[in-house]
Amino acid sequence: PLDPTSDAAIAASVTPRPIEDVAADLGIPADALYRYGPHKGKISLDFVAEAESRPRGQLVLVTAINPTPAGEGKTTTTIGLGDALSQLGTSTAVCLREPSLGPVFGAKGGATGGGRAQIIPMQDINLHFTGDLHAITAAHNLLSALIDNHIHWGNALDLDARRISWRRVMDLNDRALRQITVGLGGPANGYPREDGFDITVASEVMAILCLADSLSDLEARLSRMVIGQTRGRRMVRAEELGGIGAMVALLKDAFQPNLVQTLEGTPALVHGGPFANIAHGCNSVMATRTALGLADVVVTEAGFGADLGAEKFLDIKCRQAGLVPSAAVVVATVRALKMHGGVPLKELGTPDAAAVTLGCGNLKRHVENLKKFGLPVVVALNHFTGDTPEELEAVRAALAAEGVDVFPCGHWARGGEGALDLARAVLDLLARRPKFEYLYPSELPLRDKIETIAREIYRAERVDFSSAATAKLKEYELAGFGDLPVCMAKTQYSFSADPTARNAPTGHTLPIREVRLSAGAGFVVALAGDIMTMPGLPSAPAAQDIFVMPDGFIAGLS
Ligand code: ADP
Ligand code: MG
Repeated sequence: PLDPTSDAAIAASVTPRPIEDVAADLGIPADALYRYGPHKGKISLDFVAEAESRPRGQLVLVTAINPTPAGEGKTTTTIGLGDALSQLGTSTAVCLREPSLGPVFGAKGGATGGGRAQIIPMQDINLHFTGDLHAITAAHNLLSALIDNHIHWGNALDLDARRISWRRVMDLNDRALRQITVGLGGPANGYPREDGFDITVASEVMAILCLADSLSDLEARLSRMVIGQTRGRRMVRAEELGGIGAMVALLKDAFQPNLVQTLEGTPALVHGGPFANIAHGCNSVMATRTALGLADVVVTEAGFGADLGAEKFLDIKCRQAGLVPSAAVVVATVRALKMHGGVPLKELGTPDAAAVTLGCGNLKRHVENLKKFGLPVVVALNHFTGDTPEELEAVRAALAAEGVDVFPCGHWARGGEGALDLARAVLDLLARRPKFEYLYPSELPLRDKIETIAREIYRAERVDFSSAATAKLKEYELAGFGDLPVCMAKTQYSFSADPTARNAPTGHTLPIREVRLSAGAGFVVALAGDIMTMPGLPSAPAAQDIFVMPDGFIAGLS
């Protein structure tokens, strides 16, 4: 039986608008919309180019404090704010990432919002959607096959089989595939070598699809990717294997932004979904630019807390795409603030206004950080049943000292109507003309970029580079990659590299163990700690609660 309060049941209680009507709201003509059934569509690349050529919208970033493992509601708030703006008569579009099957079947669940703030059709979007992740998987693995095939037929490039950094991908959590051996079984099966799988969203192809601004840029970026080294330690680029054209062919449709809608019919462009650790964690540049050409206000989300998500959105995506954001919304919850105030995870349901006040140290630091980029900020307090008036007041009072307004939001329970105060506040911010600036200039040496982020955003006292990281950074500078932005890969649970260091730690050391080059995506990844690029499933995975009802309805997704 279907739980009537579940996200799937709430979504099913709404009759979606035909997708061509949603498209028409944005001025997308029928011949520019490729329909995938009645409620999903892709926008043609010709029309995307036309829309991008006349930008008119203002861009609002939704980001968050360091979260609890459940997530604090960035996606939900992006959707709720979008619906509230629509209710106020503002032409609005929301831009979100596409879900990955890893979290859908793992611990976190889907990524289509929750309660009365969802995008629909939620089952489709959370599962195969329009096939983009499958296309990315195929394109990525085509290159893997070309690499092993190249070695099999004589290895003219003299690739060092021990130094191939291009792994294989699939869009599932499967820890058994992290480290594998391929090519076993004799000469007919190629040369044995160590390999492994990452989850598709960790593929550089995904990051590239999200940062490329045209098909030709997509091709150029794929060509530039470094896939490994020769025995003489020369970096080998993907284009040297041949087959980039075939990869582009596989990705051509996936490169078109997807159009769906919120429960209240607000247009939603849901396109691309790169990892937020070893990649930048934002939806595609193509979708954001298209939305900015078609709506007056575009609300978008960046993965993880603002120390990672917002910083990478601003310093990587906005810098590469030349986007100028106009405001930021920081999502906080009473439960996460309590956690930062020292309350253990299983006691977060007990009211504790004093712990909330203490935990606001985390929220205040994120607000201060965003101001360093010149962005005006408001706080959206995502309201959970059980939050007490005293706790809400504690947040308001703590932020009043910073001159920042806090808006308790009820969009999860009530839809856009629950976020109208937040929407009005955002419109007020948009009337200002902020002076947006990046945290660091592109010319700054890579090492100094990492130190700047560590000092200014994480408030670390020092950065400890491993000797391997130091050597690689030098190598990248010499090879001409010094102007790239840095993509920090760090825990999302703390400002520091220690996930248990809650609130607003100071005096810590940021350890940079390893750095990697994503030459096609256009950033250098700095790893502060162990980062899992192929997650595992938890002991009770969400997959065990998903089922198809006799009428074909898919239940259990959230
Ligand atoms: P994020 O994007 O920050 O990771 P989501 O918006 O995906 O977070 O929300 C995480 C989970 O919390 C989702 O399952 C969502 O339905 C649920 N959720 C969000 N806001 C609320 C709320 N106010 N009350 C109850 N559940 C909520
Ligand atoms: Mg999210």
